[in-house]
Amino acid sequence: MLTKIYNIKSLVTYDDDKNDIVIQSPKNIIIKDGTIESINLKDIDIEVDDEINANDTILSPGFIDSHTHLIFASNRADDFSKRISGQSYIDIANSGGGIKSSINSFRKTSKEEIVKDCEKKISFFLKNGTTTIEAKSGYGLSVEDELKSLNIIKELNEKFDIDLVSTFMGAHDFPPEIKDKDSYIDLICNEMIPDITSNNLAEFCDVFCEQGYFDIDQTLKISQCAHDYNLKMKLHADEFNDSGAAFIAGEIKAVSADHLMKSNELGLRNMAKNNVIATILPATTLFLGMKTYANARKMIDFGCDVAVASDYNPGSNTIYSIPSVMALATLYCGLSINEVFKAVTFNAAKALNRSHVLGMIKKDYIADILFWDINSINEIPYWFNSDRLTSVMKNGKLVFQNEIN
Ligand SMILES: [Zn+2]
Repeated sequence: MLTKIYNIKSLVTYDDDKNDIVIQSPKNIIIKDGTIESINLKDIDIEVDDEINANDTILSPGFIDSHTHLIFASNRADDFSKRISGQSYIDIANSGGGIKSSINSFRKTSKEEIVKDCEKKISFFLKNGTTTIEAKSGYGLSVEDELKSLNIIKELNEKFDIDLVSTFMGAHDFPPEIKDKDSYIDLICNEMIPDITSNNLAEFCDVFCEQGYFDIDQTLKISQCAHDYNLKMKLHADEFNDSGAAFIAGEIKAVSADHLMKSNELGLRNMAKNNVIATILPATTLFLGMKTYANARKMIDFGCDVAVASDYNPGSNTIYSIPSVMALATLYCGLSINEVFKAVTFNAAKALNRSHVLGMIKKDYIADILFWDINSINEIPYWFNSDRLTSVMKNGKLVFQNEIN
């Protein structure tokens, strides 16, 4: 199947050969079976199966959201109401809200109901330009319920155009029925990880390495087990306190460490040395009403590649629009427009080990392309919402067209 995109205003992408954001003005782009076959500066005479008129729009790579907790059952609007009346995230967790209320509702809700609800959420992501989503388990916290969560991700990935990348996060919290924390680490290592990997249900393993959740020793134990079973590591690192998690992310050569609001210099430098992607999640900082954002400028100065993701989840952030998250990263985290653009395309692909096929508009890359009614990429965070997005292409197929445009 050959498709031609024509009438292109310009094409904006990170270019790994030039290590910069580049603007090109091709006459057309040819896509073969969902993959970019050629980007042509001159008109070429070739017979194609489908022609797509870009209507003088700017083309960019599809957004990659490399950190979400998409798979949950009920919302936590009650927690939100408690928070705005003065209770902290940790106070709410200690009084039965927080992650534990999501665990209760996830366990009680059928797989079919959760799949149905996730279908709706996925369409919201797609309409806002996200073409690949990382999705974590972590609201089940029993062997059966973690498998349920990862099977939902698998089903959604098979059923829908959008690509889901699956992360096992049994180490999101300790389940309420477990009194002895070490026995839960044993359950993760001796039952969950072997079961999940034998069913090929996850690519990554993530641990909430934070005071009050999983300490350094527990994180190292889970990471060693994940390594033995060929799961790549991610860490939730130093969100509320400096637990030394950024440094550990470097030691275990995690693919990414995420949050990093309280990380120290030694930790960030160790991440840079070990090529750990620093993923910042500014929408969560905003949603929690916190004042201090992750300092992405400092991370770049220390040599880290920075990715920006939503952290969409029922408790601490329901913002999923990448243009909105980009605006926050430029306003509060010290990123330039070019840096934030790279952070949600190429660097986000790196955070998912997919920068060889995703994150750029380039020959042999998957044709995940956004069409924008704008004059420059400055307008993507500037408009804050995604209204200027006219069409979304996934795997060479138009999957969304904005009727207003
Ligand atoms: Zn998270």
